[in-house]
Amino acid sequence: MNPTLQQDLNDIEKILEKVKRQGIDFLHSIDTIPTSSKNSITTDRNLNDSGLGALSTLEEFNKRLAPLMVSQAGPRYWGFVTGGATPASIVGDWLTTIYDPNAQATKAQGGVSALIEIETINLLLQLLDLPKSFLGGFVTGATMSNFTCLAVARQWFGNQLGKDFAKNGISEPIHILTATPHSSSVKCLAMLGIGSQNFIKIKTNEGNREAIDIADLEKNIESLNGKPFILISSAGTVNTADFDDFNAITKLKEKYNFWWHIDAAFGGFAACSPKYNHLVDGWKNADSITIDCHKWLNVPYESAFYLVKEQHKNLQIETFQNSNAPYLGNPLENFSYLNFLPENSRRLKALPVWFSLLAYGKQGFQDIIENSVAMALQFDDFITQNEDFELLAPTRLNNVCFTLVGDHNQDKVNLFLTHLNDKGKVFMTPTVYENRKGIRASFVNWRTNENDIHIAIEEMKASVLELGIE
Ligand SMILES: *Cc1c(COP(=O)(O)O)cnc(C)c1O
Repeated sequence: MNPTLQQDLNDIEKILEKVKRQGIDFLHSIDTIPTSSKNSITTDRNLNDSGLGALSTLEEFNKRLAPLMVSQAGPRYWGFVTGGATPASIVGDWLTTIYDPNAQATKAQGGVSALIEIETINLLLQLLDLPKSFLGGFVTGATMSNFTCLAVARQWFGNQLGKDFAKNGISEPIHILTATPHSSSVKCLAMLGIGSQNFIKIKTNEGNREAIDIADLEKNIESLNGKPFILISSAGTVNTADFDDFNAITKLKEKYNFWWHIDAAFGGFAACSPKYNHLVDGWKNADSITIDCHKWLNVPYESAFYLVKEQHKNLQIETFQNSNAPYLGNPLENFSYLNFLPENSRRLKALPVWFSLLAYGKQGFQDIIENSVAMALQFDDFITQNEDFELLAPTRLNNVCFTLVGDHNQDKVNLFLTHLNDKGKVFMTPTVYENRKGIRASFVNWRTNENDIHIAIEEMKASVLELGIE
C-alpha cells in the first residue's frame, strides 16, 4: 500500500475525530457565519507529487477554502429554494459515505441498499399521503427527476402512436402543454430531444397568478383533436408558490388521453400539514411526480426522487433498461434501479432521508413546514407594512415575492439586493414577475426562527437608508 494511504489508515480515528470537532464547531456557529463572501480563489493549484496525507490536506482546506464557505445551509439563506441538513440526515449522509454501497439491485448483489431505498420511498409516500401505486427512486435533484419522469412520458407518447421512441428515436412531434414550467423542465425538453421551445403555453389564471387556467387548458386540448399529449403542471412555482388545480386536472384526465406530470419539487411538502394539504388535493391521480429532498425535507445535497405510477413500469424499463449487460438479467424479474433511471452506479441517497424520516416522524415534518410558512407570513407582514417595499404577489405558502415600492425604484432593485446580500446577514435572489423586477425570499430551512426574520428586517431597513432609497 502507498505509505501515505497506510499512514491515514493507521490514523483514521484521529482524522475523523478532528473532522467531527470541526463539524460540530461549524454547526454551532452556522447562524453567525456570513451568507455571502467576496473573497475567491485562484483555481490553479498544482497537484503535488507525493501526497500530503489527510491531516495536512485538512489544514490546507481550513486555511484556503473553509473561510470562503458561506452559511448556505443556515437559517438566513433565503435565495433560490435552499434547505439545510437536519442532524439525523447528517448521520445518514456520513454513514452513506462510510458504508459506500452501490444502490442498484434488490437481489444478487450482496447488499440491501436497493431495499433500503424502496423502504424509504414507501416512508415518503406515507409522509406525503400518496398511494402505493407509485414506484419511486432517488436521483440527484428535481431536474433529474423531471428528466426521468418526462423521459417515461415521452415513451408513453410514442406508445400511444404505436412507436417505440427509445428504440427507434423520436419520429413524431410530441405535444407538451404547460403554463408556468420550471426552467429545469424546459431544459429537460431540450435534453430529451423534444425541444425547449416545443411546448404550448397555456394561459395562467387571471389576477396575478401562475397557476394554469383550466378553461384555456381545455380549449387547447380540444384543438389537439384527440391526439395524446403530455401536461407538465406545478405544485409550487418558484416565484410565488402557486399550485395548479389538481382536482380540475383529474376531471380532465377522465375525459382526455394525456400523461400528467407534476413538478412538486418543494410544494409537495404542503401535504405534510392539514393546514396546507388542500393545495395538493387530487395530485395522487398524476402519472408522475417530481420531489426534491435537498429543499424542504432538509437533507444534504444531492437528493430528490421521482414517482411514476406502477402501471407504467414497462414504459419506464423500455426507456432506461440497460440491455447490453447479460449479467444483469431480465429487468422485470430482477429489479435493479439502473433499469429505471439514468444512472448506473449510484450512491445510497435514500439513507439520509431514511434517518431524518425515522428521527422526526410525521409530526417533525409538519412542524418544519408550518414553521417555514409562519416565517414567510411574518416576513410578508413586514413587506406589507413597511413603506419602502411592496409585495409583487400574495404569499401563498413559503415564498415571498416583493420589490421596492413604486415604479421609480425599479432600476434600484438589483442594486439594493446586491448591497443587502453583500452584507452577509441574509441572502435572497432576484426575479422578474409580471414584467417588474423583484426579489424572492424562500423559507425552507428547518432552523429559521423569528430572530432571523428580525435580523433580516433590520438589514433591509439599514440598506434602504444607506442607499438613500425613497
Ligand atoms: C428547485 C426546483 C427545480 C430544480 O431542482 P434541482 O434540485 O435544483 O435540480 C425544479 N422544479 C422546481 C419547482 C424547483 O423549485
